[in-house]
Amino acid sequence: MASMKRTETVQDERTDARLDEGDHDRFAHYVEKSKLTEALINGSPVIALCGKVWVPSRDPERFPICPECKRLFDLGPEGRRREWEERLRDARSGGGSP
Ligand SMILES: [Zn+2]
Repeated sequence: MASMKRTETVQDERTDARLDEGDHDRFAHYVEKSKLTEALINGSPVIALCGKVWVPSRDPERFPICPECKRLFDLGPEGRRREWEERLRDARSGGGSP
């Protein structure tokens, strides 16, 4: 039984990425809201849209938005998925970069 859900307008909670003031690189990264909440409770690391992994802190500071996160966020869920698939493919096939 293959049930495939296709939605044109995306109203999914998981796409509701929130901006978190990550202290890595002095950039604010986009993280999934649910993941962020979980991380704040458990103290577990989160993964930003750009792939940055860190443990978020509660006290917010003002940092410029991570350009890579911004770019991926603007792509939307579909664009991001495509981007990540390409990245995975590159990581697999690309043995040695020039
Ligand atoms: Zn980022």
